[in-house]
Amino acid sequence: MNSTLDLQNLIQGFKLSCQTENKSPKTIEWYICFLNRFYQFLKRNNYPTSAKRISKDHIRAFILFLQQEAKTPHTERPLSQATVQGYVRTLKSFFSWLKREEYIERNLMTGIPIPRAISKIVNTFSHEQIASLVNYCRTSNDSGYRNLAIILLLLDSGIRVSELVDIEVEQDKHFVIGLRLSDDDYVAELRGQSQVEHGRDLECMICHDKFDHLLSGTCEVCFREWMLSTKKRD
Ligand SMILES: [Zn+2]
Repeated sequence: MNSTLDLQNLIQGFKLSCQTENKSPKTIEWYICFLNRFYQFLKRNNYPTSAKRISKDHIRAFILFLQQEAKTPHTERPLSQATVQGYVRTLKSFFSWLKREEYIERNLMTGIPIPRAISKIVNTFSHEQIASLVNYCRTSNDSGYRNLAIILLLLDSGIRVSELVDIEVEQDKHFVIGLRLSDDDYVAELRGQSQVEHGRDLECMICHDKFDHLLSGTCEVCFREWMLSTKKRD
């Protein structure tokens, strides 16, 4: 087997290529981490790891594995739909690079769609439930008012429990609250860190449409979706 076609080597080549395109270090880190997981999956299942011998079925098996079996490293929970989408976008970028560099003749990711995400509706407390929580705090003696303060802070600010726990009191003077970034703010921040390329007929490496400018190699729409797929949710 020609080892230059082995995925492990190609992933390194892809990394180098991303670096010369001035993609943000964070983006490159996600790409490489996701691709290494793909490589480990192929090896574990005794599937070929040579770019020329990988088939669409291997890729589909990997996507199914992500959707049904893979767990996030620390929480052991199934991967979120957004994370799975992130993996598939990474594979799309990688395989279009393999094709561009002429390691493969056909882009295997053509015709493999990004799995659609079903939007989740969060169950919220009813007014009656909130009223009984508040009443319970009022009537309990020990930590009643402390608990009431916690509940009201959560309800009024919309912060997550993990953020509430992370609040630090600095020198007994004021609270520092790490507020949750909205999706728009999150994308805007990462957009500010990414390389903007202007020109004519620039090809988005994810959707392959042509644009007059690209952000880290992707169009505005793909960039947004890609970045949101990396945003932490709880
Ligand atoms: Zn695009």
